[in-house]
Amino acid sequence: MSSSLDDMYREIIMDHYRSPRGRAPLPNADVSSDGMNPSCGDEINVAFSMDKDILTDVHVNCKGCAISVASGSMLAETVKGKSFEDVRKISEIVKKMLKGEEVEIPDDPDFEDLSALKGVRQFPVRIKCALLAWVTLVEGMEKYRAGGADSAKAATTEEDQ
Ligand code: ZN
Repeated sequence: MSSSLDDMYREIIMDHYRSPRGRAPLPNADVSSDGMNPSCGDEINVAFSMDKDILTDVHVNCKGCAISVASGSMLAETVKGKSFEDVRKISEIVKKMLKGEEVEIPDDPDFEDLSALKGVRQFPVRIKCALLAWVTLVEGMEKYRAGGADSAKAATTEEDQ
């Protein structure tokens, strides 16, 4: 990987870290899901509203390192208006990208910033930071789907890989 590409990735990540998207409170959220990454100390709350199978609005509040905050911000920018299946597909692509697995990145504006997370694979301890928002959202959506939005088991990247 060329160093200019590294610089570009770093710049995108720092931009999301400095001004995270999706911070606005979502008072009428259908689901609120908390997650944590004990190995780094990142904590996140992802709240969202659903209309049938479509995620209509999302709130992300992450207290953690630059990568966890940036990944949460990218998530907030990406998932609005998507269905549960879309979100799950995107999160699978992100996961594979981070782990350096073979994956086709869709030629889609959604992935313009997200592909900056590829730079994280050089730092294996940071992969959990980048996954935290995605794991927490998918868990929240699964909870919602199961109809048990109250069962408040916090997501954690420690066990959910
Ligand atoms: Zn972290």
